[in-house]
Amino acid sequence: MKIGVIGGGAAGVASAYYLKKNHEVHLFEKQPVLGGNIRTLNKNVKTDGIPSDLYIDSGVIEFNGTHFIHLKALLEELNVPTEPVALSSALFLFDGTYYLSPTRIRNSDFTVPRRIKEYLKHRRFLKDGLQFSYPWRKSGAAQLRRFRGQTLGEVFHDQVLQYWTQAISMYAYSLPLEDAAQVPATQALAVLSEALGSTWFRIVGGVYTYVDAILQHLDRDKVFVNSHIEGVERHDAGVTIRFESGESFHCDKVVFATLPSQVLSLLVDASDAEKRRFGPWRDHLSKTIVHTDAAIYERYPVDSHSAFDLFQKADGDFGYNAFLNELIGVSRDNPTSYCLGFNLEEWIDPKKTVHCQEHRTPRYSVDATRYREEIQRTNGENNTLHAGAYLYKGLHEDAIKSAAKVADILG
Ligand SMILES: Cc1cc2nc3c(=O)[nH]c(=O)nc-3n(C[C@H](O)[C@H](O)[C@H](O)COP(=O)(O)OP(=O)(O)OC[C@H]3O[C@@H](n4cnc5c(N)ncnc54)[C@H](O)[C@@H]3O)c2cc1C
Repeated sequence: MKIGVIGGGAAGVASAYYLKKNHEVHLFEKQPVLGGNIRTLNKNVKTDGIPSDLYIDSGVIEFNGTHFIHLKALLEELNVPTEPVALSSALFLFDGTYYLSPTRIRNSDFTVPRRIKEYLKHRRFLKDGLQFSYPWRKSGAAQLRRFRGQTLGEVFHDQVLQYWTQAISMYAYSLPLEDAAQVPATQALAVLSEALGSTWFRIVGGVYTYVDAILQHLDRDKVFVNSHIEGVERHDAGVTIRFESGESFHCDKVVFATLPSQVLSLLVDASDAEKRRFGPWRDHLSKTIVHTDAAIYERYPVDSHSAFDLFQKADGDFGYNAFLNELIGVSRDNPTSYCLGFNLEEWIDPKKTVHCQEHRTPRYSVDATRYREEIQRTNGENNTLHAGAYLYKGLHEDAIKSAAKVADILG
């Protein structure tokens, strides 16, 4: 079959890779580079601000080593090197109080009394935390169904636990805190539960390394960037993709690997069912900053930084700082602290900014995700398939899982 894949993020390139094993695949990406939210400095993003042998991710960075099964299998198949990393989290509130995750306390240089003091802060979460983490450990996702129809913002009573879980969700989906609170509880709690006690890994050489490896397997003359699609039309003989340039491309099947909010604007003949499934999706434009300004930690008496450091600002809003050294293969003791900041722009010294990156991400809400299972169930209807992290829990594993499902459907 001849297949057109629209969107060159993780889901699109992985779909193209799997489908190419049996079909003729053409990939169309709107941006000048492939990768979507994968943005690796010195790979798909050119920069002068860092040494040329350093690869820093200004988008997707780290992966859950325990639960990202499809991603791990793909990386193994592509022979892409990975490395375990020790990650932890901390919540820093504007009034100077802070909370460290158990791993952070365990790995710290604190004295025994200090450790006990830090652990004791967790007792305020015990009741709230156990209501989801204990059933999850006993029987997993099935237990989370009881939170169906609720948002993450509705689940916890303790204020600090609310902040922590919503800020992790802000991190996972690059959404403002108020939107992160609207993520369906089942989705957010599954991600949080999977994160608890998991191992983590990084891709050596930056995340784009695996996109490069995939490109070795694709026909390069069938991979297009700067592709501006005017519309997609389905008919008895297959699918026609029309470009703003006036050109068109005919294929047997089309795979949408764009954001869900973009599907209806591309489909010229959307059915009522498609309008229902994709109509409620919205997206959000956000910005990450790669920087070297570790002074943001100076207000707090902590001896370590990590990838999931969450900060409350004066206006009550939150941002995160991911301390990158370990994640980019640079020693923790290196005099330069490489970081990825989100929503902390006013705290970062502009002279220490290396790169600013825009990202577009889906806004997950109970409304938007209502028809997600229907999209999965009807995938392939009318010669049209859908792939994307948004179809599951919104992380990288989900992008690759969705691509594997598309390949299963098309053989
Ligand atoms: C800053 C940031 C950090 C993240 N970090 C992690 C992480 O560390 N670990 C993790 O598991 N997940 C992380 N994520 C989540 C991430 O979104 C997913 O892991 C995954 O990369 C999403 O892939 P995707 O292909 O579904 O979507 P996207 O990456 O959004 O790809 C969609 C692609 O479609 C293209 N497109 C859109 N419209 C059109 C059109 N009309 N024509 C052609 N192409 C079009 C877009 O340009 C884009 O390239 C992060 C997200 C962000 C924003």
